[in-house]
Amino acid sequence: MKDNKVEWTGLNTKATHADSAVQRTRAVSPPIWQTTTFTADSPEQLAEMATSTSPAEFYTRWGNPTHKQAEAVLAALEGGEAALVTSSGMGAIFAALMSFLQSGDHVIAQYSHYAGATSLLHDVLPRWQIECTFVDQTDTENFARAVRSNTKLIYVESPSNPVLQLTDLGAVAELGKRHRITTVVDNTFATPINQQPINLGIDVIIHSATKYLGGHFDISAGAIIASEEFIQRAWKFAIIAGATLSPFDSWLLLRGLRTLGLRVERQNQTALAIARFLESHPRVERVNYPGLESHPQHELACRQMRGYSGIISIEVRGGYDASARFIASLKLAKHAASFGGFETIVIHPAAMFGHQLTSDQRRQIGISDGLVRISVGLEEHSDLISDLAQALEQ
Ligand SMILES: *Cc1c(COP(=O)(O)O)cnc(C)c1O
Repeated sequence: MKDNKVEWTGLNTKATHADSAVQRTRAVSPPIWQTTTFTADSPEQLAEMATSTSPAEFYTRWGNPTHKQAEAVLAALEGGEAALVTSSGMGAIFAALMSFLQSGDHVIAQYSHYAGATSLLHDVLPRWQIECTFVDQTDTENFARAVRSNTKLIYVESPSNPVLQLTDLGAVAELGKRHRITTVVDNTFATPINQQPINLGIDVIIHSATKYLGGHFDISAGAIIASEEFIQRAWKFAIIAGATLSPFDSWLLLRGLRTLGLRVERQNQTALAIARFLESHPRVERVNYPGLESHPQHELACRQMRGYSGIISIEVRGGYDASARFIASLKLAKHAASFGGFETIVIHPAAMFGHQLTSDQRRQIGISDGLVRISVGLEEHSDLISDLAQALEQ
């Protein structure tokens, strides 16, 4: 087969070709290795397969050729040495953190994270004697002040859900290097198209591939991208945790990755147009979008992001009831959890996180009653603006 050792620099080229070296057939669209187990010629060979690290062929919980293809593309897009696919974003977060931490360790994280990550850090880790300090991510000094002698990991998310606050990734990476603390970023919102944390010095990247990477609202998947050493350790933990991605879902992820650049660039453009429209609308009190000059961290956004993603959150004037009426009046945009797929969906975080977060936690991360999060899809921006405009009139 063709030697693919040339270093291509374009992200769309990488998404198309980065898996060539691990292709096992001549098929252009790769087969799905829909099998849980692989044969050996002898007991000794099977034992060898079982004891190698992350084998492509032994038993699918250990690895699978379809995983290897998706992992090759993910590592190339993020500029990491290696990648591991998992059954969900939470599986990736759990495997990355728990393969690394032990009791007595200290973690620094943000007020504002994906709710599942907050639960892990806030409710689960203390039961294993791992302490976590939560800080306001908008000032890097807060991370520096929280460092202790036993701090093992800094866990960040930027832009964060749902008010799109940013973390200065270069500054956090620098802080980590200075104190020998591993830095981990959840890059789900930005995707490697808009932001490449490894190039900014961050050690480990987490993704919920359920969102933009998959892109079609049809898989649950996750990924970790990091050094070979980190990924091997995470793999050892993930096979015990059982966070295995199915071969078919891995294939759908690979298929989604081929068009990631096109989808995200389009969603960046549409979201910016919509954010500008909403900012000028009298029924909208506030628009959170890092691409707007009015975003308090716009300058940082310009420095560390190439595009500003397809997610906007807004505060509708009139609080809880007005925002609920707005959502109910939308005709194109559907009301559903998740984001990053082909169609536009909205959620009402105050209602959604009423059960998962305490009211203090909600206030701390800026979830007001009138907040609505919009995940922009692939529709024409003119149609989306018309839909938003008519719903705001209700
Ligand atoms: C959705 C999400 C997760 C969790 O991913 P799942 O695939 O649902 O397990 C983690 N982080 C962020 C930022 C997310 O949006």
